[in-house]
Amino acid sequence: MVVGENQPKILIVDDMAANIDLLHQALGEEYEVLFATNGLDALAVAAAESPDLILLDVMMPEMDGYQVCRRLKAEEGTRHIPVIFVTALSEEADEARGLHLGAIDYLTKPVSVPILQARVRNHLELKKRGDMLERLAMLDGLTSIPNRRRFDETLEREWRRCLRAARPLSLILIDIDHFKLFNDHYGHALGDRCLKKVATALARTQTRSADLVARYGGEEFVCLLPEIASEGVQSSARRMREAVATLRIPHQASPTAEIVTLSLGAATLTPSRLCHAGDLVETADRFLYQAKSAGRDRLLWGAVEIPDEA
Ligand code: GH3
Ligand code: MG
Ligand code: MG
Repeated sequence: MVVGENQPKILIVDDMAANIDLLHQALGEEYEVLFATNGLDALAVAAAESPDLILLDVMMPEMDGYQVCRRLKAEEGTRHIPVIFVTALSEEADEARGLHLGAIDYLTKPVSVPILQARVRNHLELKKRGDMLERLAMLDGLTSIPNRRRFDETLEREWRRCLRAARPLSLILIDIDHFKLFNDHYGHALGDRCLKKVATALARTQTRSADLVARYGGEEFVCLLPEIASEGVQSSARRMREAVATLRIPHQASPTAEIVTLSLGAATLTPSRLCHAGDLVETADRFLYQAKSAGRDRLLWGAVEIPDEA
Protein backbone atom coordinates (compact mmCIF):
# COMPACT_ATOMS: atom_id res chain seq x y z
CA MET A 1 0.00 0.00 0.00
CA VAL A 2 1.26 3.46 -0.85
CA VAL A 3 1.91 5.72 2.11
CA GLY A 4 -0.73 8.38 1.72
CA GLU A 5 -2.01 11.43 3.55
CA ASN A 6 -5.09 9.60 4.75
CA GLN A 7 -3.34 6.54 6.05
CA PRO A 8 -4.03 6.16 9.77
CA LYS A 9 -1.02 6.88 11.98
CA ILE A 10 0.02 4.48 14.71
CA LEU A 11 2.60 5.25 17.38
CA ILE A 12 4.47 2.22 18.74
CA VAL A 13 6.17 2.73 22.09
CA ASP A 14 8.57 0.05 23.35
CA ASP A 15 12.07 0.15 24.80
CA MET A 16 13.06 -3.07 22.94
CA ALA A 17 13.93 -2.68 19.25
CA ALA A 18 12.93 -6.31 18.57
CA ASN A 19 9.38 -5.66 19.79
CA ILE A 20 9.08 -2.56 17.68
CA ASP A 21 10.27 -4.52 14.63
CA LEU A 22 7.65 -7.18 15.21
CA LEU A 23 4.78 -4.70 15.51
CA HIS A 24 6.08 -2.70 12.57
CA GLN A 25 6.12 -5.80 10.39
CA ALA A 26 2.55 -6.57 11.37
CA LEU A 27 1.22 -3.04 10.78
CA GLY A 28 3.64 -1.20 8.48
CA GLU A 29 1.92 -2.31 5.27
CA GLU A 30 -1.42 -0.76 6.10
CA TYR A 31 -0.55 2.14 8.35
CA GLU A 32 1.92 4.93 8.80
CA VAL A 33 3.97 3.79 11.78
CA LEU A 34 5.85 6.08 14.21
CA PHE A 35 8.14 4.92 17.00
CA ALA A 36 9.35 5.94 20.42
CA THR A 37 11.64 3.95 22.70
CA ASN A 38 10.93 5.78 25.96
CA GLY A 39 8.07 7.55 27.71
CA LEU A 40 9.21 11.13 27.21
CA ASP A 41 9.74 10.65 23.48
CA ALA A 42 6.34 9.00 23.28
CA LEU A 43 4.66 12.04 24.85
CA ALA A 44 6.50 14.40 22.51
CA VAL A 45 5.66 12.39 19.36
CA ALA A 46 2.02 12.01 20.45
CA ALA A 47 1.66 15.76 20.97
CA ALA A 48 3.40 16.68 17.73
CA GLU A 49 1.93 14.06 15.39
CA SER A 50 -1.55 13.35 16.82
CA PRO A 51 -1.47 9.62 15.95
CA ASP A 52 -4.79 7.80 15.59
CA LEU A 53 -3.72 5.02 17.94
CA ILE A 54 -0.91 4.30 20.40
CA LEU A 55 0.47 0.84 21.16
CA LEU A 56 2.12 1.26 24.52
CA ASP A 57 4.55 -1.06 26.28
CA VAL A 58 4.05 -1.15 30.05
CA MET A 59 7.54 -2.10 31.28
CA MET A 60 9.99 0.60 30.33
CA PRO A 61 12.84 2.11 32.34
CA GLU A 62 12.37 5.61 33.85
CA MET A 63 8.77 6.29 32.86
CA ASP A 64 6.59 3.19 32.59
CA GLY A 65 3.57 2.79 30.29
CA TYR A 66 1.08 3.54 33.06
CA GLN A 67 2.72 6.89 33.70
CA VAL A 68 2.81 7.66 29.98
CA CYS A 69 -0.87 6.79 29.69
CA ARG A 70 -1.79 8.96 32.66
CA ARG A 71 0.04 11.93 31.16
CA LEU A 72 -1.49 11.39 27.71
CA LYS A 73 -4.96 11.42 29.27
CA ALA A 74 -4.19 14.54 31.32
CA GLU A 75 -3.33 16.65 28.27
CA GLU A 76 -6.01 18.33 26.18
CA GLY A 77 -4.10 17.67 22.95
CA THR A 78 -3.57 13.92 23.45
CA ARG A 79 -6.52 12.89 25.64
CA HIS A 80 -8.60 11.67 22.70
CA ILE A 81 -5.93 9.30 21.28
CA PRO A 82 -6.85 5.66 21.96
CA VAL A 83 -4.17 3.69 23.81
CA ILE A 84 -3.67 -0.09 23.67
CA PHE A 85 -1.29 -1.55 26.23
CA VAL A 86 1.02 -4.25 24.88
CA THR A 87 2.74 -6.04 27.68
CA ALA A 88 4.27 -9.18 29.12
CA LEU A 89 2.32 -8.59 32.34
CA SER A 90 -0.74 -10.77 32.21
CA GLU A 91 -2.16 -10.56 35.72
CA GLU A 92 -5.79 -9.53 35.93
CA ALA A 93 -4.79 -6.62 38.17
CA ASP A 94 -2.31 -5.27 35.57
CA GLU A 95 -4.91 -5.36 32.83
CA ALA A 96 -7.51 -3.68 35.07
CA ARG A 97 -5.02 -0.98 36.01
CA GLY A 98 -4.34 -0.18 32.36
CA LEU A 99 -8.03 -0.04 31.51
CA HIS A 100 -8.75 2.18 34.53
CA LEU A 101 -6.15 4.64 33.29
CA GLY A 102 -8.19 5.07 30.14
CA ALA A 103 -6.62 2.51 27.78
CA ILE A 104 -9.20 1.01 25.43
CA ASP A 105 -7.59 -2.41 25.13
CA TYR A 106 -4.85 -4.64 26.42
CA LEU A 107 -2.73 -7.14 24.48
CA THR A 108 -0.34 -9.59 26.12
CA LYS A 109 3.01 -10.65 24.73
CA PRO A 110 3.81 -12.74 22.81
CA VAL A 111 1.48 -10.87 20.50
CA SER A 112 -0.62 -12.84 18.01
CA VAL A 113 -0.24 -10.94 14.74
CA PRO A 114 -3.76 -11.67 13.34
CA ILE A 115 -5.38 -10.63 16.65
CA LEU A 116 -3.25 -7.51 16.83
CA GLN A 117 -4.18 -6.57 13.26
CA ALA A 118 -7.88 -7.20 13.85
CA ARG A 119 -8.03 -5.21 17.08
CA VAL A 120 -6.07 -2.32 15.59
CA ARG A 121 -8.42 -2.24 12.62
CA ASN A 122 -11.51 -2.25 14.89
CA HIS A 123 -10.19 0.50 17.14
CA LEU A 124 -9.19 2.66 14.20
CA GLU A 125 -12.66 2.26 12.73
CA LEU A 126 -14.22 3.38 16.01
CA LYS A 127 -11.82 6.31 16.21
CA LYS A 128 -12.73 7.36 12.66
CA ARG A 129 -16.44 7.31 13.46
CA GLY A 130 -15.87 9.17 16.70
CA ASP A 131 -13.86 11.86 14.93
CA MET A 132 -16.54 12.23 12.27
CA LEU A 133 -19.32 12.57 14.85
CA GLU A 134 -17.29 15.13 16.73
CA ARG A 135 -16.79 17.17 13.56
CA LEU A 136 -20.49 16.97 12.72
CA ALA A 137 -21.45 17.95 16.27
CA MET A 138 -19.53 21.20 15.77
CA LEU A 139 -21.15 22.14 12.43
CA ASP A 140 -24.44 23.89 11.82
CA GLY A 141 -26.82 21.59 9.98
CA LEU A 142 -28.31 24.20 7.63
CA THR A 143 -25.28 26.25 6.66
CA SER A 144 -22.41 23.77 7.23
CA ILE A 145 -20.34 26.45 8.97
CA PRO A 146 -19.25 26.02 12.62
CA ASN A 147 -22.14 26.12 15.09
CA ARG A 148 -22.82 27.78 18.41
CA ARG A 149 -21.24 24.97 20.40
CA ARG A 150 -18.01 25.26 18.45
CA PHE A 151 -18.09 29.03 18.93
CA ASP A 152 -18.67 28.75 22.70
CA GLU A 153 -15.77 26.34 23.08
CA THR A 154 -13.44 28.40 20.91
CA LEU A 155 -14.35 31.61 22.73
CA GLU A 156 -13.49 30.11 26.13
CA ARG A 157 -10.22 28.70 24.82
CA GLU A 158 -9.15 31.89 23.04
CA TRP A 159 -10.16 33.98 26.04
CA ARG A 160 -7.83 31.97 28.28
CA ARG A 161 -5.06 32.06 25.69
CA CYS A 162 -5.30 35.83 25.15
CA LEU A 163 -5.45 36.32 28.94
CA ARG A 164 -2.14 34.44 29.34
CA ALA A 165 -0.54 36.24 26.41
CA ALA A 166 -2.02 39.67 27.31
CA ARG A 167 -3.33 40.00 23.76
CA PRO A 168 -6.60 41.55 22.58
CA LEU A 169 -9.59 39.54 21.44
CA SER A 170 -12.29 40.91 19.17
CA LEU A 171 -15.76 39.71 18.38
CA ILE A 172 -18.29 40.78 15.78
CA LEU A 173 -21.99 39.91 15.99
CA ILE A 174 -23.68 39.96 12.60
CA ASP A 175 -27.44 40.06 12.16
CA ILE A 176 -29.38 40.02 8.89
CA ASP A 177 -31.65 43.04 8.60
CA HIS A 178 -35.42 42.50 8.44
CA PHE A 179 -35.12 38.79 7.99
CA LYS A 180 -38.59 38.12 9.34
CA LEU A 181 -39.93 40.27 6.50
CA PHE A 182 -37.73 38.30 4.08
CA ASN A 183 -39.35 35.03 5.20
CA ASP A 184 -42.82 36.59 5.10
CA HIS A 185 -42.25 37.89 1.58
CA TYR A 186 -40.26 35.07 -0.08
CA GLY A 187 -41.13 32.08 2.09
CA HIS A 188 -39.11 30.02 4.54
CA ALA A 189 -37.38 27.89 1.90
CA LEU A 190 -35.86 30.93 0.20
CA GLY A 191 -35.06 32.23 3.67
CA ASP A 192 -33.02 29.10 4.29
CA ARG A 193 -31.22 29.53 0.97
CA CYS A 194 -30.43 33.11 1.84
CA LEU A 195 -28.97 32.01 5.20
CA LYS A 196 -26.75 29.47 3.48
CA LYS A 197 -25.44 31.99 0.96
CA VAL A 198 -24.78 34.60 3.62
CA ALA A 199 -23.04 32.04 5.86
CA THR A 200 -20.76 30.88 3.05
CA ALA A 201 -19.92 34.44 2.02
CA LEU A 202 -19.12 35.44 5.62
CA ALA A 203 -16.97 32.38 6.24
CA ARG A 204 -14.95 33.04 3.09
CA THR A 205 -13.96 36.54 4.15
CA GLN A 206 -11.77 35.29 6.98
CA THR A 207 -8.34 34.22 5.84
CA ARG A 208 -6.45 33.67 9.09
CA SER A 209 -6.80 30.16 10.48
CA ALA A 210 -7.28 31.56 13.99
CA ASP A 211 -10.44 33.44 12.99
CA LEU A 212 -13.77 31.74 13.43
CA VAL A 213 -17.06 32.53 11.72
CA ALA A 214 -19.98 30.61 13.22
CA ARG A 215 -23.77 30.60 13.16
CA TYR A 216 -24.73 32.11 16.48
CA GLY A 217 -28.42 31.30 16.15
CA GLY A 218 -31.32 32.06 13.79
CA GLU A 219 -30.20 34.78 11.36
CA GLU A 220 -27.29 35.84 13.56
CA PHE A 221 -23.65 35.02 12.96
CA VAL A 222 -20.55 35.67 14.97
CA CYS A 223 -16.91 36.23 14.08
CA LEU A 224 -14.15 35.75 16.63
CA LEU A 225 -10.84 37.48 15.91
CA PRO A 226 -8.02 36.59 18.32
CA GLU A 227 -5.17 39.10 18.66
CA ILE A 228 -7.02 41.65 16.56
CA ALA A 229 -7.94 45.16 17.68
CA SER A 230 -9.45 48.28 16.17
CA GLU A 231 -8.38 48.47 12.50
CA GLY A 232 -8.45 44.71 12.06
CA VAL A 233 -12.02 44.53 13.32
CA GLN A 234 -13.11 47.30 11.02
CA SER A 235 -11.54 45.75 7.95
CA SER A 236 -12.95 42.31 8.81
CA ALA A 237 -16.40 43.80 9.21
CA ARG A 238 -16.01 45.76 5.98
CA ARG A 239 -15.08 42.58 4.09
CA MET A 240 -18.13 40.81 5.48
CA ARG A 241 -20.51 43.62 4.54
CA GLU A 242 -19.02 43.81 1.04
CA ALA A 243 -19.20 40.04 0.59
CA VAL A 244 -22.91 40.01 1.40
CA ALA A 245 -23.61 43.17 -0.64
CA THR A 246 -21.91 41.48 -3.61
CA LEU A 247 -24.36 38.58 -3.40
CA ARG A 248 -27.12 41.10 -4.21
CA ILE A 249 -29.86 38.94 -2.74
CA PRO A 250 -33.11 40.83 -3.47
CA HIS A 251 -35.11 41.92 -0.42
CA GLN A 252 -38.11 43.86 -1.71
CA ALA A 253 -39.80 43.92 1.69
CA SER A 254 -36.88 45.59 3.45
CA PRO A 255 -37.37 49.22 4.49
CA THR A 256 -33.55 49.53 4.57
CA ALA A 257 -32.40 48.55 1.07
CA GLU A 258 -33.45 46.59 -2.02
CA ILE A 259 -31.03 43.83 -1.16
CA VAL A 260 -30.19 41.82 1.94
CA THR A 261 -28.04 43.85 4.34
CA LEU A 262 -26.34 43.27 7.67
CA SER A 263 -26.06 45.09 10.94
CA LEU A 264 -22.91 44.45 12.93
CA GLY A 265 -21.84 45.14 16.48
CA ALA A 266 -18.23 44.63 17.48
CA ALA A 267 -16.18 44.77 20.62
CA THR A 268 -12.51 44.45 21.49
CA LEU A 269 -11.19 43.55 24.89
CA THR A 270 -7.88 42.49 26.30
CA PRO A 271 -8.98 39.73 28.68
CA SER A 272 -8.33 40.37 32.35
CA ARG A 273 -9.27 38.52 35.52
CA LEU A 274 -11.86 41.21 36.23
CA CYS A 275 -14.05 40.32 33.24
CA HIS A 276 -15.41 37.28 31.44
CA ALA A 277 -15.71 36.07 27.88
CA GLY A 278 -19.43 36.82 28.23
CA ASP A 279 -18.62 40.54 28.58
CA LEU A 280 -17.19 40.55 25.07
CA VAL A 281 -20.40 39.08 23.63
CA GLU A 282 -22.56 41.43 25.69
CA THR A 283 -20.65 44.50 24.56
CA ALA A 284 -20.84 43.46 20.90
CA ASP A 285 -24.56 42.79 21.35
CA ARG A 286 -25.07 46.27 22.77
CA PHE A 287 -23.42 47.80 19.71
CA LEU A 288 -25.43 45.57 17.42
CA TYR A 289 -28.60 46.85 19.08
CA GLN A 290 -27.39 50.41 18.54
CA ALA A 291 -26.59 49.64 14.90
CA LYS A 292 -30.17 48.47 14.46
CA SER A 293 -31.59 51.57 16.17
CA ALA A 294 -29.36 53.87 14.13
CA GLY A 295 -30.88 52.60 10.86
CA ARG A 296 -29.36 49.12 10.23
CA ASP A 297 -26.93 48.25 7.38
CA ARG A 298 -23.89 49.39 9.39
CA LEU A 299 -21.17 48.45 11.85
CA LEU A 300 -20.89 49.93 15.31
CA TRP A 301 -17.65 49.19 17.07
CA GLY A 302 -16.64 50.47 20.44
CA ALA A 303 -18.05 53.96 20.77
CA VAL A 304 -17.19 54.79 17.18
CA GLU A 305 -19.58 54.49 14.30
CA ILE A 306 -17.86 53.32 11.13
CA PRO A 307 -19.07 55.30 8.10
CA ASP A 308 -20.67 53.30 5.33
CA GLU A 309 -18.19 52.99 2.47
CA ALA A 310 -20.40 50.97 0.17
P1 GH3 B 1 -33.92 43.01 12.51
O1 GH3 B 1 -33.56 43.83 11.31
O2 GH3 B 1 -34.27 43.88 13.67
O3 GH3 B 1 -32.87 42.04 12.85
O4 GH3 B 1 -35.24 42.21 12.15
P2 GH3 B 1 -35.38 40.66 11.87
O5 GH3 B 1 -36.70 40.45 11.26
O6 GH3 B 1 -34.21 40.19 11.09
O7 GH3 B 1 -35.24 40.07 13.31
P3 GH3 B 1 -36.20 39.12 14.14
O8 GH3 B 1 -35.36 38.65 15.29
O9 GH3 B 1 -37.48 39.80 14.44
O10 GH3 B 1 -36.51 37.92 13.18
C1 GH3 B 1 -35.58 36.94 12.87
C2 GH3 B 1 -36.20 36.04 11.86
O11 GH3 B 1 -35.27 35.05 11.44
C3 GH3 B 1 -37.39 35.30 12.40
C4 GH3 B 1 -37.13 33.87 12.08
O12 GH3 B 1 -38.24 33.24 11.49
C5 GH3 B 1 -36.01 33.92 11.08
N1 GH3 B 1 -35.18 32.72 11.15
C6 GH3 B 1 -34.42 32.29 12.19
N2 GH3 B 1 -33.82 31.13 11.89
C7 GH3 B 1 -34.20 30.79 10.64
C8 GH3 B 1 -33.94 29.69 9.76
O13 GH3 B 1 -33.19 28.75 10.09
N3 GH3 B 1 -34.51 29.69 8.53
C9 GH3 B 1 -35.32 30.72 8.14
N4 GH3 B 1 -35.83 30.67 6.92
N5 GH3 B 1 -35.61 31.76 8.95
C10 GH3 B 1 -35.06 31.80 10.17
MG1 MG C 1 -32.29 40.25 12.00
MG1 MG D 1 -31.85 38.55 15.17
